[in-house]
Amino acid sequence: MIIPGYGMAVAQAQHTVNEITKVLRAQGKNVRFGIHPVAGRMPGHMNVLLAEAKVPYDIVFEMDEINEDFANVDVSIVIGANDIVNPSALDDPNSPIAGMPVLECWKSRSTIVLKRSMATGYAGVGNPLFVHHNTRMLFGDANESMQAVLKAINR
Ligand code: NDP
Repeated sequence: MIIPGYGMAVAQAQHTVNEITKVLRAQGKNVRFGIHPVAGRMPGHMNVLLAEAKVPYDIVFEMDEINEDFANVDVSIVIGANDIVNPSALDDPNSPIAGMPVLECWKSRSTIVLKRSMATGYAGVGNPLFVHHNTRMLFGDANESMQAVLKAINR
């Protein structure tokens, strides 16, 4: 499950993400995208970028369509997203984002988060996902990281 956020837009990583998607699907992997309604900085931001990169529409899902399914997901790849995957929205009533629905990727078998640092996102709050036992951080510009992954899986 690929979860794009504002950082994918900043890095303009959508084309590399599409290339990786093509390689993985050719290997028979079930690749899907999970889109949060406020991912990015305007409604539909992620859908526009993925469409521009020619990611097939039928593998792009809205949050409500796939949020129940994370227990069946092997790997979640979070690309430059932060607030929209913050578990404290659900379990910390004092959080500024308390009550906001989030993509519950920490329920998948493992999660890889691509971002440049441990910095906060738009809401300015820390994210326990980054230190969750099933999470691995891949630090760097999301497009550079995705290009390195693409090279590795094409070897
Ligand atoms: P966030 O702003 O929460 O997080 C984006 C993350 O991307 C940052 O933490 C940043 O971390 C990382 N990032 C930035 N540049 C890069 C890069 N080049 N490479 C890799 N990572 C990068 O975005 P989300 O999409 O998760 O959430 C959207 C937020 O915006 C929500 O809080 C939402 O309410 C708000 N919002 C949304 C609107 C909408 O209509 N969609 C409108 C207004 C606000 P780092 O610096 O460590 O790289």
